[in-house]
Amino acid sequence: MNIIRQIVAFRSAKSSLSRSERRQSRVSIYIPVFAALLISVCAGHVFGEEWKAGAAKFNITPEQFMPMSGYAGRGAKHADGKLTDLWAKALVIESKQGQRAVLVTYDLIGIDRGLSVAICNALQRKFELHRSAVALNFSHTHTGPVVAKNLRPMHYMLLDEANRRLVDGYAQFLQEKSVEVVGEAIANIAPAKLAWGSGTATFAANRRNNKEAEVPELRKANELRGPFDHDVPVLVVSDAKDQLTAIAFGYACHNTTLGLLQWSGDYAGYAQLEIEKAHPGCIALYWAGCGGDQNPLPRRTVELAKQHGGDLAEAVERTVGDSAALRPIEGELSTQYKEVDLALARLPDRDELLREAKSTNKQNAPRGKQHMGL
Ligand SMILES: [Zn+2]
Repeated sequence: MNIIRQIVAFRSAKSSLSRSERRQSRVSIYIPVFAALLISVCAGHVFGEEWKAGAAKFNITPEQFMPMSGYAGRGAKHADGKLTDLWAKALVIESKQGQRAVLVTYDLIGIDRGLSVAICNALQRKFELHRSAVALNFSHTHTGPVVAKNLRPMHYMLLDEANRRLVDGYAQFLQEKSVEVVGEAIANIAPAKLAWGSGTATFAANRRNNKEAEVPELRKANELRGPFDHDVPVLVVSDAKDQLTAIAFGYACHNTTLGLLQWSGDYAGYAQLEIEKAHPGCIALYWAGCGGDQNPLPRRTVELAKQHGGDLAEAVERTVGDSAALRPIEGELSTQYKEVDLALARLPDRDELLREAKSTNKQNAPRGKQHMGL
């Protein structure tokens, strides 16, 4: 099995090593694919006008209710309402030399390799974007639809034919919308200024090393156990008239405040809504960092999802509004993509997998069947 990570770095050459090292040492990762996209740039001292950029967004809320992704306990239950729409958003950056890099963000749980490859191939065919120039990032909301074969043993493998057709149909829709949103962002390309900064939000807590019920008290006493990463990296794009056109921001925390049966972008969705409300015409894109072992705590109510989203939006606003903290980005653009195999822990043998496949355990049985080809 490959373990995959996606990284986008928008930062000055000086600070990139220490920040990257810090992140690696503080947060563990479990995202099941390896991709690395590095966008490296050098910081100068004045806003450069050597960039071009374009952004766009498309509503990708399913047109009909369908199974939801993220929690096995929901079974095949369909969503039955909507708190927020779900969005696909694209930001295209073009250097003075004409090189392009594209960030596409989604208010969805994740993507399987097959759909990811299909989307990237389509982008290459239509826009001549090499795989290394494309980063697909998913907010990992647990109140969105099942996406293709993502988390297959938990979802797709357990669904009946009618539900599989809904999931397949949504995957097709998503692929088309992904191409359209990138096309529109390319059409919107115009001279731009880029800057980056970093803020802080503290609602992420390590879910392996702290009991959820104890988190408020531990936080008050400053005794929360790590690792964690509370940085909020921000990339600011403005036009030639200094109007904000796009803000890409990240946070390393599982997007799991909510588990109800209504579509929502969870805290990341609310944060994007807040930022776009504060800056009409500007597109806010959320980048999920390496936060699989972090939960937004406390959680489980819509009010808390809004509160965490508000805290994250505030962290972004503080950075965007502090011109002294924002660093202009100048220099060249380079992108890289690499897949690597990581060492595995002990593998279950054939007998264990067969036992698993025949068990009544709802999560393990499909996994055993998948590995045994049953
Ligand atoms: Zn999750």
